[in-house]
Amino acid sequence: MKLDRILPYAKILLEKAVKHGDTVVDATIGNGHDTLFLANLVGEDGRVYGFDVQLEAVTATEELIRSNGLSNRVTLFQQGHENLLTCIPQEENGKITGAIFNLGYLPGSDKSVITKPNTTISAVEQLLNFMAPEGIIVIVIYHGHTGGEIERDSLLEYCNQLDQNLAHVLEYKFMNQKNNPPFIVAIEKR
Ligand code: SAH
Repeated sequence: MKLDRILPYAKILLEKAVKHGDTVVDATIGNGHDTLFLANLVGEDGRVYGFDVQLEAVTATEELIRSNGLSNRVTLFQQGHENLLTCIPQEENGKITGAIFNLGYLPGSDKSVITKPNTTISAVEQLLNFMAPEGIIVIVIYHGHTGGEIERDSLLEYCNQLDQNLAHVLEYKFMNQKNNPPFIVAIEKR
């Protein structure tokens, strides 16, 4: 297939927005693969702030980052991303150029801890205010699990009403695939 698949495309979007030395956010660290990707993307002078409510996710990510020798550029919070602005230092205001959300539950966990519409939207809104112009928020929307449909619809409704003078909003989705595959909403701050 020549078209970019969903997860590779999420990375392509982040690569467009983020350069060495930048500050970025992984709003749902999960197993830490995106945190690692971002830590490499920002280079040794950059910084990654990562969030997850589950200790399991924070511990696994800490270990992944440590074993790759990148701990000095990554700060992890066992906190909901809805508390983003209380966790990230004020001096980062206007410096964040990229952020990623992988919604849903942690693969391999019991599916009881999922991202939720209000907290996800609150985090997106905080980021939009706080980040740099031309910063990109990439949201990978998983919607096959219980609760996923509600979060998807709330988020799409929120994104649909975002003022086009404030942000460019992109939906990237394979329209004819079965079984609720994930898709992307990307928001570029203007
Ligand atoms: N569905 C994706 C993985 C999503 S992981 C896939 O299949 O690859 C989503 C992560 O978000 C989980 O680790 C979960 O603990 C975390 N999470 C849930 N609510 C959160 C919140 N309010 N803030 C930050 N992380 C949250």
